[in-house]
Amino acid sequence: MAEKDILLILDILAGEYGEGAYPGRSSDGTRPDWERDPFRILIATMLSQRTRDDNTRKAADNLFAVFSTPEEIATADPEEVAALIAPAGFPRQKSEAIVGCCRILVERFDSKVPESTEDLVSLPLVGRKTAACVRSYAFGIPAVCVDTHVHRIANLIGLVSTKDPAVTETELMGSTPEHRWSDINRFLVRHGQEVCLPRNPRCGECPISGMCDHRRI
Ligand code: SF4
Repeated sequence: MAEKDILLILDILAGEYGEGAYPGRSSDGTRPDWERDPFRILIATMLSQRTRDDNTRKAADNLFAVFSTPEEIATADPEEVAALIAPAGFPRQKSEAIVGCCRILVERFDSKVPESTEDLVSLPLVGRKTAACVRSYAFGIPAVCVDTHVHRIANLIGLVSTKDPAVTETELMGSTPEHRWSDINRFLVRHGQEVCLPRNPRCGECPISGMCDHRRI
């Protein structure tokens, strides 16, 4: 698909959804008070795996009400962390990863979240998707964060024709100007939550249906 079509789609979705998605967003649109903090964005993005935004927000708020720094979580009892983050699901697995991640931040990165993809993916439970989200939302670095919504909707629309999210990332990076890379996650995620629902897309209400290869009308 031509570059201008991707830009047009992003512009239409931006008009529809305003600022779009961001870490810690609740379904009622209330913002977390930690939205600009790279450490909390990293932890919230780890918590967000395989759960809904509202559950992520509850778990993150519970955790940050008790522990606020990498040092505090690095020395915390993983069982206590698991109890706090239970709303996000998979509490034991996520607790172990979060405590382990904080130990590495303290020992290797001077208690700061690294900016490079290479350093980020060296942390537990951090793959390319989470690294791209942290780079984009925490540091304002252009990045294409391909989660399930982005991979699914980019293929439905016909922006890409891929099976592998890593290939989707590469292709979207190639077809979209760098200064709009971060908008891809911001707006396709909201579109996937509001209109292009995974099981029952509301194509009749979709503002980009005229540009979609898989509209059901
Ligand atoms: S037309 Fe339907 S399938 Fe295509 S993006 Fe819109 S809601 Fe999704």
